[in-house]
Amino acid sequence: MTTITNPTPEALLRPKVFIPEYIADTGMALLKAHCDCIAPWASGQPVMNVEAPDHPIRQYLYEADAVIVRVFTITEADLGKPNQLRIIVKHGVGLDNIDIPAATAHGIPVAYTPTGNTNAVAEHTMALMLSLIRHIEPAGKALLAGRFHERNDFQGDELQGKTLGLIGLGRIGSLVAKKAAHGFDMRVIAYDPYVHPDAYDGPAQLVSTLEALLSVSDFISLHVGLTDETRQMINGQALSLVKPTCRIINTSRGAAIDQAALIEVLKSDRLGGAALDVFEDEPLPANHPITQLPHVVLTPHIAGVTTIALERIARESALAVLDALAGRTPEYVVNGLMVDTK
Ligand code: NAD
Repeated sequence: MTTITNPTPEALLRPKVFIPEYIADTGMALLKAHCDCIAPWASGQPVMNVEAPDHPIRQYLYEADAVIVRVFTITEADLGKPNQLRIIVKHGVGLDNIDIPAATAHGIPVAYTPTGNTNAVAEHTMALMLSLIRHIEPAGKALLAGRFHERNDFQGDELQGKTLGLIGLGRIGSLVAKKAAHGFDMRVIAYDPYVHPDAYDGPAQLVSTLEALLSVSDFISLHVGLTDETRQMINGQALSLVKPTCRIINTSRGAAIDQAALIEVLKSDRLGGAALDVFEDEPLPANHPITQLPHVVLTPHIAGVTTIALERIARESALAVLDALAGRTPEYVVNGLMVDTK
């Protein structure tokens, strides 16, 4: 016989948090201690195409006090329906799946978690550089194909003493500067018009123009957000200024580089190589011309994806929700709204 128990008064008071997509246990455990979690994926229910506007899972949005989203969209239409949301939290950084002006118009703060994968991306940047200059992928393939004897074809290069030019000296750029300078003994220069030299105390030497960085760097690594100013900032003209031996690394956003111009200089041997984690169009189509070139290392937008980073982001997302539900404004609110303390 099934016993039905009425919810305790305490349970009735617990706020509801809607979590349409997977987040790591670190975040779920924090939330479960204080809230009722609506997370259909956690009980094995398939949650496909959560982006579809008519997906039945969307109903939970209208009964929740808080929501944590990864790619789940939150639109003007959603926020126009009666709801009791006090906070929207983006698990990660890319905020394009949330209609921020609509959230602002409805008085709902939107928070995000920009620091959770900073170290993961900085380490991946170093991995891409090393993979490129030590021929890790082609050498590994040759070995697996029984061509061990080709080892002399994979003569590598070294980072020590080389000049690394960083474009963007924010969270990730400044961490890459430390790893490259202190860990690999590189000379690091950086171009970031929004960082004042007096306000920066890391190992990179700031240069005042992009051109100054392009012409002297042995490696160029991009760490800018995508804006009108940074879109295609590495174009054919910029590429004409770099050393023909220079290697370009991009873990920021694909559209910061004019991909067709990059392919052109690689094809004509006017660039030493490129290592890319991000692309103008994602997913990168199979057999895309960039996949056919030598001296190229490609990864499928995984720079920020480590177990530790996902745990950190889940924890930071959960803390942002708990802050908001307790009447405290989370640290990283993007639309300038304070949490309603009622
Ligand atoms: P951030 O905001 O801390 O740093 C960006 C820096 O770019 C800022 O210092 C800013 O002043 C600078 N900048 C802006 N316009 C510039 C310009 N025209 N020229 C030079 N510098 C300029 O951001 P972050 O956390 O360091 O992230 C950097 C990039 O990495 C973002 O594009 C982010 O989306 C991307 N990212 C990628 C992954 C991945 O998995 N590949 C993961 C996380 C972040």
